[in-house]
Amino acid sequence: MQYPNDYEAKQGILEIGRRMYDKNFVAANDGNITCKVSETQIWATPTGVSKGFMKAEELVKMDLSGRVVQQGKLSVSSEIKMHLRIYNENPGVLGVCHAHPPVSTSFAIAGISLDKAIYPEALVNLGTVPVVHYEAPGSQGIPDSVAPYCRDYNALLLANHGALAWGTSLMEAWYRLEAMEHYAMILMYTGNIIGRANVLSCEQVREIVGIREKLGIRTGGVPPCCADTATNLADVGGVPAGGAACAAGASTRGTAGTANSSGAVSSGDVESIVREVLSMLLPEAHGKSR
Ligand SMILES: [Zn+2]
Repeated sequence: MQYPNDYEAKQGILEIGRRMYDKNFVAANDGNITCKVSETQIWATPTGVSKGFMKAEELVKMDLSGRVVQQGKLSVSSEIKMHLRIYNENPGVLGVCHAHPPVSTSFAIAGISLDKAIYPEALVNLGTVPVVHYEAPGSQGIPDSVAPYCRDYNALLLANHGALAWGTSLMEAWYRLEAMEHYAMILMYTGNIIGRANVLSCEQVREIVGIREKLGIRTGGVPPCCADTATNLADVGGVPAGGAACAAGASTRGTAGTANSSGAVSSGDVESIVREVLSMLLPEAHGKSR
């Protein structure tokens, strides 16, 4: 394995941080970038600083168990756990990028995976991008949700959160993140002016307000939330190779489908299934209510 040296890794992270910021993939201090420099060590972006304006001495070196080896004044983000998990699950990965690009993040919020076979460029270098179910920011749930996908995919959407990509070099991880946003934009233009959002459940909002209070922030109000069970608790996409049927007359309009280890529902089929189920249920329900 040909690893970059410390200098190359740090310069690469600073450069990608600038590109990330310039492309509006991050706001405020969002996003994180890591680069592997040996079998056991990575360089990582610090928390609490805009990724467009980092200095080399602010970067953090750590080992794959999460132990900090070298750091400046700033510590590392709690989101580092998902980076470490990817490196641990897939030793061939040398770079990971995470950001909140607006179009990809909108798909993540709508729970629509990026898996339409419409754009060869995206299919070759990026592949399909499943949505992994919602987990609280900074929680152990996020690395756990990402783990099953680390070897077979190159990128993921994190429900109600953002985008994540990895590669055999830092630059490849970045290109994939960039390609994902581009692909998402094309999917949006070709039929997904999204018009849908999975609102966080009240329980999820309470959890986040709890995190906010732990950070010492007592202002900001609490938004209305979904009293029902959360709608973002299933992974979307992640269809095994050859497992997705092309529904007759399927358009590029996205529909959420759910996937699990036992198989997958192609996103194009969901609408017709729902219609069929409703046509079976509704007359009966109608009859009983009279
Ligand atoms: Zn994030």
